[in-house]
Amino acid sequence: MFDTRELGRRPGAMKRLSREVESPGNLGIEVIGVPDGATVKLDLRMESVMEGVLVTGTARAPLAGECVRCLEPLQQEVEAEFQEMFSYPDADDRSRHSADTGDDAEEEDTLFLEGDLFDLEPVLRDAVVLALPLQPVCQDGCPGLCPECGARLADDPDHRHEEAVDIRWAALQELAGTIGDGEKDNAPRADGDDSQEK
Ligand SMILES: [Zn+2]
Ligand SMILES: [Zn+2]
Repeated sequence: MFDTRELGRRPGAMKRLSREVESPGNLGIEVIGVPDGATVKLDLRMESVMEGVLVTGTARAPLAGECVRCLEPLQQEVEAEFQEMFSYPDADDRSRHSADTGDDAEEEDTLFLEGDLFDLEPVLRDAVVLALPLQPVCQDGCPGLCPECGARLADDPDHRHEEAVDIRWAALQELAGTIGDGEKDNAPRADGDDSQEK
């Protein structure tokens, strides 16, 4: 809750304030979010206007999540900007009258001052969630995980599976070699193919 008492209700009055608040919790999406209890730094500008208080601000908070490609835990910062109008409750009547002219959707979105106070939490929540990366990655172009063994390719960019392949090839070549040697005693390989066809 923020207090607008010092701001007063004279249109044109303005007040800036910075405050650190605790994360309201559950602030994020599945892959990344602000840890519960983390500190959210707010810089606010409150402006008194005719129908209420216009609040413009920036929120900065730490993020914890994981890279969607390699699943590495990652820590980032989010910076979210927001602007919201908190109407005076007594302006309610006026907006309700204008709502009668047909703009019901807008009416539902109206936030109101509660006395001299306003609750920034829903605004903060929307702004932060919107500012989150939908596909957070540990680094630009994270190569992800090796499809064969699940190793994190960023740790080992030259990661290959030549060894495993070599072993298999070696086994095949050895096998081919023994067959070849056996055939070499009797006939050339081409003739061997011919004899299979006969
Ligand atoms: Zn990654
Ligand atoms: Zn691998």
